[in-house]
Amino acid sequence: MGLFWKRKSGSDFISLGLNTPLEVETRAEEEEKQVETPVESPPLPVSGLGEPAGVTAGERVVPAQAPVRTAEPPQPLEDESFLRRFRRAVAATRENLASRIEDVVKGEKQIDASTLDELEEALIGADIGIQTTLEIIQDVRRQVDRQTLKSVDELKGAIKRHLLEILDRARNARGVASETTVPETVRPYVMMIVGVNGTGKTTTIGKLAQRIKSEGNEVLICAADTFRAAASDQLAIWAERAGVPLIQQRQGTDPAAVLFDALKAARARNTDVLIVDTAGRLHNKANLMAELVKMKRIASREVPGAPHETLLVLDAVTGQNGLSQAREFLKATGVTGLVLTKLDGTAKGGIAVAIAKELDLPIRYCGIGEKADDLVVFDPKTYVDGLFD
Ligand code: GDP
Ligand code: MG
Repeated sequence: MGLFWKRKSGSDFISLGLNTPLEVETRAEEEEKQVETPVESPPLPVSGLGEPAGVTAGERVVPAQAPVRTAEPPQPLEDESFLRRFRRAVAATRENLASRIEDVVKGEKQIDASTLDELEEALIGADIGIQTTLEIIQDVRRQVDRQTLKSVDELKGAIKRHLLEILDRARNARGVASETTVPETVRPYVMMIVGVNGTGKTTTIGKLAQRIKSEGNEVLICAADTFRAAASDQLAIWAERAGVPLIQQRQGTDPAAVLFDALKAARARNTDVLIVDTAGRLHNKANLMAELVKMKRIASREVPGAPHETLLVLDAVTGQNGLSQAREFLKATGVTGLVLTKLDGTAKGGIAVAIAKELDLPIRYCGIGEKADDLVVFDPKTYVDGLFD
C-alpha cells in the first residue's frame, strides 16, 4: 500500500512501519505497569545562549516519563486491520458518494442528462470540488455519447480513475518532501507542523512521535506554540504517553528560541527526528507568518536543509473553508505536504481530492480518529477504493 515512513540509508530504506498499527492499547498499559525502569535522559547543556533573542531562564526539558519497554516488541497486526479502520473512517463519505451514485443509476436503462445532473450533485455533496466535478461530468458525458460507459461499475471506474489521477499528480508536485529524500547522515530530520488552531496539529504530533519512536528511532518534540499556555501542557501529555522528551519554555517565549534549544538538544542527544509544534494563531496573521519564517531560518542555519518537511494540517470537517487558510500558510512557509485530519468525522471526505488539486500538494498523512494509532500514511489508491468499494 505504500504506507511507510522511510529514511534513506545508503541504498536501503528503513521502514518506520507507519502502516502497521501499534499494539492494542490495553496491552501497552499492562506492559508499562510491569516494566518499571524509567528512562534517564542524558543531561542537556544549559541553553540560553545569546541567540536567537528571547531565550529566558525557565526553559525546561521534560524527560520522557514512560518506562523502557524491555519486553518483546509487539507484533504488528496485519495491514488488513489498518485497511479496515481506514475504510471505517471513510464509511460516511462512501455512503454519501458511492451509494448515491448507485441510487442515481439504479433502474435507469441508460445514463442520460438527468442522471448526470444527479451525479454532479453527489460529487459536489462529497466536497470533491466544483472544478473536479465538472471535469468528471464532462468526461462521463463524452463517454456516454460514445456509448463506452454502460454500467454503474464502469461509471464508478471512470470517476475513480479521474480522482486517482489528481491525487497522483499532487504526489509528484514540485516542492514535495519526505524522509526518503534526506540521507540518514543529516540529523535530526526536522518536521515542522503548521496550521490553524483546532485542526489537529498537536494530536498529529503525538501520533507521529509515538509511531516513529516505536520503530526504534530517537524522537524529540519541540513545543514552539508558546502563545497559548495550554498548548504546551497538551503536548506534554502526548510526549509522556509516547515516551518522547519534550523541549518547552515559559508561555510567551520567542518560539524561535525554543526551536533553537530543541535543535541543540537534538544534536546533543543524537536525535533522529525532531518534530516541531507551532502556534496556529497570534495577535495577527502577519505576526504568525513572520514567526514561522523566522523559525525556518533558524532551523536551516542549524541543520542542513531543515526543516526537511513542513506539514500543513487541515481539518477535513471544515472542508472548503480550510482552503483559504491553507493558502496563507503556503505563501509564508513553503509547505511540503499536507496532513488531513478528522477524515473519520465527515461524510465529505472527497475534500482530500479538492485539497490536493487546489494546493497542488500531496496529502502525506491522514487522521482517522483521536487515538495514538489513528494516523495513516495517505495512499491515493486505498483512499479512492475506500470511497467506492
Ligand atoms: P491543534 O490546535 O491544531 O493543535 O489541534 P489539536 O491537536 O489540539 O486537536 C483539536 C481537536 O481535534 C482535539 O479534540 C483532537 O482530539 C481532535 N482531533 C485531532 N485529530 C483528529 C482526527 O483525526 N480525528 C478526530 N475525530 N479528531 C481529531
Ligand atoms: Mg496545538
